[in-house]
Amino acid sequence: MTSEHKKIEVVTFGCRLNTYESEVMKNHAELAGLDNTVIFNTCAVTAEATRQARQSIRRTRKENPDVKIIVTGCAAQINPEQFKRMDEVDQVLGNEEKLQAESYLNFGENFGLDKAEKILVNDIMSIKETANHFIEGYADRTRAFVQVQNGCDHRCTFCIIPYGRGNSRSVPMGDIVSQTKRLVENGYQEIIITGVDITSYGHDLPRQPTLGDLCQKLLKFVPNMKRLRLSSIDSIEIDDALFQVITEEERLMPHLHLSLQSGDNMILKRMKRRHSREDTIDFCKRVRAKRPDIVFGADIIAGFPTEDEEMFQNSLRLVEACDLTFLHIFPYSAREGTPAAKMPPVSGDIIKVRAARLRALGEEKFDHFMMAQIGKRVSILVEKDLESGKSVIGHTEHFAPAKILAPVMAGAIVTARVKGYEKGILITELDN
Ligand code: SF4
Repeated sequence: MTSEHKKIEVVTFGCRLNTYESEVMKNHAELAGLDNTVIFNTCAVTAEATRQARQSIRRTRKENPDVKIIVTGCAAQINPEQFKRMDEVDQVLGNEEKLQAESYLNFGENFGLDKAEKILVNDIMSIKETANHFIEGYADRTRAFVQVQNGCDHRCTFCIIPYGRGNSRSVPMGDIVSQTKRLVENGYQEIIITGVDITSYGHDLPRQPTLGDLCQKLLKFVPNMKRLRLSSIDSIEIDDALFQVITEEERLMPHLHLSLQSGDNMILKRMKRRHSREDTIDFCKRVRAKRPDIVFGADIIAGFPTEDEEMFQNSLRLVEACDLTFLHIFPYSAREGTPAAKMPPVSGDIIKVRAARLRALGEEKFDHFMMAQIGKRVSILVEKDLESGKSVIGHTEHFAPAKILAPVMAGAIVTARVKGYEKGILITELDN
């Protein structure tokens, strides 16, 4: 029994929003005086993610027979029964209940009693608001995620997220500014704006501020915030203020991750996406015209139902047409309850091959970008030590992983010269 299990451990799967929420849950559980408890914050984006959570729960129980186990997150929200049936599990909490302090107080008070309810999961679609849960920081991070929004109003045909997260709801702007100020005061130099569909920020707030308005406010009212980074965005939903911030604000990091999903217009239509391949190409061109050094990443699904070779080729061509650098490739995974799960599927073997072809192209593009950094001066946010202080690792403004051959404090932003590129990482030396 490790000492960690004597206290609280949170096992986080999936997205940055889960990472932020895990910090909130840990605080609640500690304040409730819980001990010897493991909380699993699950993900439901793929069947594999849910399987990994179940496996991790079984292993934890086997290794620690007397530990208390709470399961929450999107997989628990969408299908709580699957975890209720597991003897290893003591409590199943919904995505809303997991953020409420009383959930942990009740768990502590009722643990082992007959009256203890094993499932506390309500209808996530009934949630209309998202309160901000202030955190002081992250146990093991030098980059801080700030939640600005939760849920999603869209219904892309392959996506299970709205059934786990509910409809879109925004955190009031004042709370976000206060949260960001608190994190920067606590030493965080990079703030990452996080949510499920952040470009829909503000639709549900009075006077409907946009994500661009929010970014402008943060840059104005948190002047000592060195770096502001956006998590995944829907390029078709970019507002004018955001376009101005992206193309003109130095503190807004020159790295955008786009939720593209496919490069073929027929497949985009069958996915119920709101953009065409031409929209994406045009967006990248317009941004680069004003900020030439910006880099783009993208999420792309391989093997969406009905995708034939020509349609797949359009995804490969889009990577080139937009000169994408960071690719996140998702082999299509049918999610029960989504419309796409009822469409004629592509065979598993073809899905695997297409995912591998996209990944190979992604690596080629990434290597090309990284090689082009050699000789340049870059700014690096140091994230952690390597080799006991002889060198450290961090990320440049373009989100390139970089190693500095010098002992530098984690959390510092330093200037370095790129000397080389090895195994996916830039090799740099301090250049003050
Ligand atoms: S925009 Fe589409 S893919 Fe993204 S969370 Fe919403 S439904 Fe899912």
